[in-house]
Amino acid sequence: MSSREMKKTEIGRFAPSPSGRMHLGNLLCALLAWLSAKSSGGKFILRIEDLDTDRCKPAYAAQTEADLRWLGLFWDEGGSNGGPDAPYEQSLRSDLYCAALEKLKSQGLVYPCFCTRAQLHAASAPHREDGLTVYPGTCAHLTEAEIAEHLKTAQRPPALRLRVPDETISFWDGHLGQMRENLLTECGDFLLRRSDGLYAYQLAVVVDDAAMGVTQVVRGADLLTSTPRQLLLYRLLGLTPPKFYHFPLLLDSAGRRLAKRDSSIGLATLQEKYMPEEIVGKLAFLAGLNPSAEPRLPESLLPGFSWEKVPMEDIVLPPKLF
Ligand code: GLU
Repeated sequence: MSSREMKKTEIGRFAPSPSGRMHLGNLLCALLAWLSAKSSGGKFILRIEDLDTDRCKPAYAAQTEADLRWLGLFWDEGGSNGGPDAPYEQSLRSDLYCAALEKLKSQGLVYPCFCTRAQLHAASAPHREDGLTVYPGTCAHLTEAEIAEHLKTAQRPPALRLRVPDETISFWDGHLGQMRENLLTECGDFLLRRSDGLYAYQLAVVVDDAAMGVTQVVRGADLLTSTPRQLLLYRLLGLTPPKFYHFPLLLDSAGRRLAKRDSSIGLATLQEKYMPEEIVGKLAFLAGLNPSAEPRLPESLLPGFSWEKVPMEDIVLPPKLF
């Protein structure tokens, strides 16, 4: 078989931020990402997104690994297993993000932003439905002299933003279909590095998914609006984007998004009540992959896995399921 005919191995990943114990939403993400990669004979990577060192703790990362193993969602590379692209913790990969930032700087697309959080909130730019604000471009056209002046008087180092084109970025989501967003009017110039020196999620996730050869990104629809920003970064950095699959969010019976602070849907509570296959079975039922809420082992779901079965609309948790 020539290399062109050879089917590329799918590489999926689960990329948790270890800022607490996982909850049902995180578990659904892990399950779907695992099923999507494994059902196509692919590889599954665990990447620890611990850029925010204030919120993320190694103990939570270790707990996440133990929880994934408990559920039977084993991974091929990453986390403490290591692998060819180690380290798999974002906090240890700053050199790669720095190199990518330099590449964008060399294209003249990066500028310092001195806006404080309060200024950003007060800006009259329209607020989006998802709570994000559109950056109004306050610092986009500062002159060299103005930048020098700010640097002299600012209380803290500037953040760095990427200048975005007035362009609609379209992509085909493997689950939701055609998506599009105009980056300038719906997002604005976005952060690459925060004023405290932390690299932004958007930059790190692109650099890492590309470096790890990820071919499919499975994540909740709350991150759907990040994808156009990430696609722009893939293009500017000369990298090949993966395929994206965004799945619907789990909502509580009041229609609110599940939050880590709600302990009833946290794994600590669930683990006291259920066996792993009971949790997997219930999650798979919600995701349209189990005809009933009967217990299932993850492997038993592989033959029947198909994105077509997964609902498109947000999923409200039935009151007595968990
Ligand atoms: N680390 C992100 C989270 O836990 C996920 C990022 C991604 O899947 O792209 O929400």
